[in-house]
Amino acid sequence: EAKAAGRNQIKFFDPVMQDSLTARAALESELHVALKQEQFLLLYQPQTGRDGQVLGAEALVRWRHPQEGLISPAVFIPVAESTGQILTLGRWVLRTACEQLVAWQRSPAHAGLALSVNVSARQFHHPDFVSEVLTLLDETGAAPDRLTLELTESLFIDDLDNLVGKMKALKARGVRFSLDDFGTGYSSLSHLKRLPLDQLKIDQSFVRDLLVDPNDAAIVRTILALGKSLDLEVMAEGVETAQQREALVAHGCHLQQGYLHGYPGPADAVLEGQAGRR
Ligand code: C2E
Ligand code: MG
Ligand code: MG
Ligand code: MG
Repeated sequence: EAKAAGRNQIKFFDPVMQDSLTARAALESELHVALKQEQFLLLYQPQTGRDGQVLGAEALVRWRHPQEGLISPAVFIPVAESTGQILTLGRWVLRTACEQLVAWQRSPAHAGLALSVNVSARQFHHPDFVSEVLTLLDETGAAPDRLTLELTESLFIDDLDNLVGKMKALKARGVRFSLDDFGTGYSSLSHLKRLPLDQLKIDQSFVRDLLVDPNDAAIVRTILALGKSLDLEVMAEGVETAQQREALVAHGCHLQQGYLHGYPGPADAVLEGQAGRR
């Protein structure tokens, strides 16, 4: 009886846990509705090259909640990953992104643009992932070499042979790969050597204090040197100021993404920053 009371205590007198479980369950069931009703949209943040010209964009998902307004992926992606709902959401994201690529391919002003899409580990590990992406490319007519899949280091905790095999199958069709948030996760140099990557994306935490923290500056230089020796592109994310842009350029990092170059916005606006850059 004392034991039962103890259990009840945990259940009823831990309001924080109770609240977060309730909130999470609510979020999960709301996500279920959102997926059915397609309450999602993609925003596109420009990625720029040597002269600040827009080379493409990263697709970033938002949840257009009927009551709460736009909800950040930082809130619902972790829930969708743990419930498996990321599989349905991820399919919608990839299809929408491919359709956007096709729309750009048909517009003379946008025809050269590339698109980066975030893919969760759980999504990539799904046995049908490769065949689904290949089918999607066929069905939509999106140019595979304009599509970059952004993976994170969380993928490396599982079977590396399987990961490499899947990446190679998609690369054979022309799909490109970028390693997102690089420097914050589990990569080792042997991973980098084995994976058929095209790009490293320097995590924004290193860019943020690049000018004030010598350690961050050293990390940025090291990632650039690594990219050079492994023949990988290096893109900096989270570039907010002209000083950060210039410091990165001085280190040889010309591929950049961040509020300085443009905020995530509607697809039609990705070229906007180009004429009068902030
Ligand atoms: P991420 O892939 O690293 O995306 C970069 C994040 O940094 C985006 O946040 C972007 O809006 C933000 N950002 C861009 N420029 C700047 C800047 O100059 N300063 C600062 N402080 N932030 C900047 P967002 O859109 O909230 O996305 C957060 C994360 O959610 C993404 O990080 C990605 O991991 C995940 N995510 C977004 N869309 C998707 C998706 O379609 N599928 C999956 N699986 N994950 C997604
Ligand atoms: Mg990303
Ligand atoms: Mg990132
Ligand atoms: Mg990030």
